Amino acid sequence: MRLQNKLIILFVSILILTFLTNIFLVIFLIRHSLTRLQQEEMIIAGEMLRNSLEGKIRTFEIFIKQHLVDSSMVKNQMKDLEKKVRFFKEEKILYLKENWSALDNSQPPFPLLLNNPLSKYLKGLLSTPGLEIGEIVITDKDGFPLAFTKIPPSPLLDKEKWWKKTINLGFYSGIVEDKLSFSYPIFDNQKLIGVVRVLADIDGIFKPLKLFSLGKTGTAHFLIGKKLVLSSSNWKGSKLDFFRILEKGDYQKKEWLLRIFPSHPSLEWKLILIKNPQEEEYILTSVIKNVFKQFLISLLIFILIGIYFARYLTTPLKHIEKFANRLAKGRLSYRLRINTGDEIESLAEALNTMAQKLEKAMKALKEEKETIKKVSETKSLFLSAVSHEFKTPLTIITNYAQLLATGKLGEVNEEQKNRLIKISLHSRYLIRLVENLLNLSRLESGEWETQFQEFSLRNFLEEVKQEFSPLAKNKNIQLSLELPARLPRLLSDPYALRLALDNLIENAIKFTPPKGEVIIKAGRTDSKVRIEVEDTGPGIPPEEREKIFEPFYRVDRKEVRKSWGTGLGLSITRELLKILDGEIEVREGKKGGSVFVITLPIKGG
Ligand code: ADP
Repeated sequence: MRLQNKLIILFVSILILTFLTNIFLVIFLIRHSLTRLQQEEMIIAGEMLRNSLEGKIRTFEIFIKQHLVDSSMVKNQMKDLEKKVRFFKEEKILYLKENWSALDNSQPPFPLLLNNPLSKYLKGLLSTPGLEIGEIVITDKDGFPLAFTKIPPSPLLDKEKWWKKTINLGFYSGIVEDKLSFSYPIFDNQKLIGVVRVLADIDGIFKPLKLFSLGKTGTAHFLIGKKLVLSSSNWKGSKLDFFRILEKGDYQKKEWLLRIFPSHPSLEWKLILIKNPQEEEYILTSVIKNVFKQFLISLLIFILIGIYFARYLTTPLKHIEKFANRLAKGRLSYRLRINTGDEIESLAEALNTMAQKLEKAMKALKEEKETIKKVSETKSLFLSAVSHEFKTPLTIITNYAQLLATGKLGEVNEEQKNRLIKISLHSRYLIRLVENLLNLSRLESGEWETQFQEFSLRNFLEEVKQEFSPLAKNKNIQLSLELPARLPRLLSDPYALRLALDNLIENAIKFTPPKGEVIIKAGRTDSKVRIEVEDTGPGIPPEEREKIFEPFYRVDRKEVRKSWGTGLGLSITRELLKILDGEIEVREGKKGGSVFVITLPIKGG
């Protein structure tokens, strides 16, 4: 991956990581403070509602106490009525038991009670402004109705026995037919004379409760004892749902936020607020949405800045890369121009210095090379000129020495004859040396002219073998030729190839001790032929195998020193193979000697 992309990825990863950490922190903080806010909001709303309800009920209590419980008019009337109904209670008790509940207003069996002044007084109270009184009933201490605004059920049928509870508790409140009841005992000079009960229309009292709302899901519930009396009208669940939530209890659950507000200890009611805390999640969602929007914008800006910054950082590096590539191609005059004022600039300066030194060194090297070339050319010229000049006199010397040795020009004794033979032998060696020098000089200077032609490799090799056979036989060496059934015809320069091969076979015979073997092999591989010359001589140590192809190089060994040689044969062979598009290498033979392998194209030239 390119450095620029790596840097961009680094920038973006840092941004995303920072963002995610922040967003989680923000969500946590918002959620935490939201819950707290919701709880506090609930407490405030609940307290206000409770105060308003309690206030209304207190007004009721004060009213009841002023007009009924502590009123001397009521007490007097009660005493009067008590006397009148005693008879009734005693005589007609059975009748009451059976028929009271079936009676209606049109046929009042107790006109006395219904129309007595106390009942009328009570009726008058019903229309008191500001209070929604549904019904009032005053009974004696046994629950027998003395005065009422509506005929109450028979005390014998009334399971609630509210008067008894009122007397026992000193106050009693409860629910009767969707009305809230408040009951108080009435004392006259500390003597219990009866009980009063006022039934209040809940609707009027609980209007604020009914209309209560808190957010989208906040609802209020009014209980007396364990009985659910009223839920605010936005409550969508059933009573069962309500009690289920209540059972789970606790002030805060994941899905419900619950708060219980108990009333004044003398009253048994409770106010309960319930709310779904997830309601405000939309605030959170909108915050998160906004944050994400902002994030995307900043991400975009960051990527742009990242790209710019990465480019700013990597551009000098690209220049350096280009510079290095140019150096590799040998263009040393190019210099870096980087002004970043940092380590990259120092690096560029160092590279410039290096390039400058390299350029100088290369220049010097070039000059040196030129000089060497010139010297080498002069040397070649000199060698070829000298060799050329040597060749004719040497040939003449050889010929004369041979002629003299025959005795045709005058008699020579045995001693003289031997010397003359030695002269001609050594002059022939010198001629070979001169010839080799001339060949190498021609090959190196490119003056060698090739003559490509098609010929049979088989015939060619058979001829070579035949020519070398006497030499081998002379040294008691077995020279053999191993050829496959099919061998291609070659397009090559037979003269050059012959010269190359002669050197190899000559060496093989020269370095192989008597009773040894020299084998010439050939074969075909794809578009090439291989010619191998293997011997059973001393072989060539691996570290010498490259060096022997250099001019004048001879392996420093006894048998080599003893043999005649110039060290030019193999270098001539290699140069010859170059012009034939071929190659030569040397390996160790199977029998410990050496194998020289020539590879040649079938169709060269
Ligand atoms: P020359 O034979 O005149 O010494 P060459 O260039 O032909 O020069 O060979 C270089 C050297 O390589 C030889 O002196 C000899 O040490 C080594 N060499 C060449 N051919 C063989 C061979 N067949 N076996 C062992 N050594 C060899």
